Amino acid sequence: FAPWNDPDAKPYIVFENVTKRFGDFTAVNNLSLKIYEREFFALLGASGCGKSTLLRMLAGFDEPTAGRILLDGQDLRGIPPYRRPVNMMFQSYALFPHMTVEANIAFGLKQEGMAKADIEKRVAEMLKLVKLERFAKRKPHQLSGGQRQRVALARSVAKRPKVLLLDEPLGALDKKLREETQFELMDQQQELGLTFVVVTHDQEEAMTMADRIAIMDKGEVMQVATPAEVYEAPSSRFVAGFVGNVNMIEGTVSGRENGVARISDGNGLTIKAENIGDAAAGSAVAFAIRPEKIKVSSRKPDDPGVNVVEGEIYDIAYLGDMTVYHVKLADGQVVKASALNASRITDDPLTWNDRAFISFRPDAGVVLTR
Ligand code: ATP
Repeated sequence: FAPWNDPDAKPYIVFENVTKRFGDFTAVNNLSLKIYEREFFALLGASGCGKSTLLRMLAGFDEPTAGRILLDGQDLRGIPPYRRPVNMMFQSYALFPHMTVEANIAFGLKQEGMAKADIEKRVAEMLKLVKLERFAKRKPHQLSGGQRQRVALARSVAKRPKVLLLDEPLGALDKKLREETQFELMDQQQELGLTFVVVTHDQEEAMTMADRIAIMDKGEVMQVATPAEVYEAPSSRFVAGFVGNVNMIEGTVSGRENGVARISDGNGLTIKAENIGDAAAGSAVAFAIRPEKIKVSSRKPDDPGVNVVEGEIYDIAYLGDMTVYHVKLADGQVVKASALNASRITDDPLTWNDRAFISFRPDAGVVLTR
């Protein structure tokens, strides 16, 4: 299931050159985006980048200043929120405190005028979905934070919307519960067969749950891709730096042939790089490489196919599952390398101020021009 790789697949939600201005401030800037049916889609970005504004326009609480939003081929302009097949899940503190769990879930159905027997049936279904059958008669304050979150989900999908919008859905939960709940949400999305669009500023959350992620900055989409693509093949320095840890070796392309570029930093460091895209000779680029793709050792590797750079151990942090080394190179830059401790047994015990060699394959990173 990857409709975004199929040129004939019809997108379900389309943002077409959407701009949203508040006075003379542009919150969303000429943004285009396609989301497919049953996709778990994440909008990821720092505070103020415009992700909530995008959700609010899809829900109908705000209209675009320019551009169009289409849902299943229909232009949504002018359609009020309650007539869109879209619902927004608010954080658990938006539950009605004086109502029981089942009354909270039934609330929207009652307002819609659904028959009592149908409401009962639907509420039972929803309680089963979120595994709260035994808690139907409780009030929100008699529930844990995780259970309240599940009631909020049940309430927001009870009317069977086609699309569920979730704005920082797990923001109120502590780290451990948050991680568990991420997996629950994925299961529930699968079970319901809905399209989920989630807003988050937490990259791990987006990576865990989403089929694809749109990384946003200043009202624009910087990249839309699967979690693996975003991490392995970021399209810009911004994306590479936003998701995960990265080393950015800045330099100039001093030559390229057969898909391999030489990148020199002008301070005596020259490396070979593949994945060079459209980087032309003479252009300023960054070689972006993740710490775990760099090996550190006290002996000089003799493989002519890899880049080897001498340096000095500058810092070591033992993190349990892995160890992170900061290695200072001759040109003064500090490179981060990490190694899983499961494979460390045979490695030489490097320590502070030791002479060390970092090594990495030319295809272990990507060359970025933006
Ligand atoms: P956060 O994670 O903090 O909610 P966000 O990425 O969701 O951030 P938005 O809420 O979409 O950001 O806001 C984008 C920008 O638009 C912000 O700078 C915000 O101050 C501004 N903005 C949002 N709504 C309004 C409004 N009604 N009037 C004026 N400015 C607004």
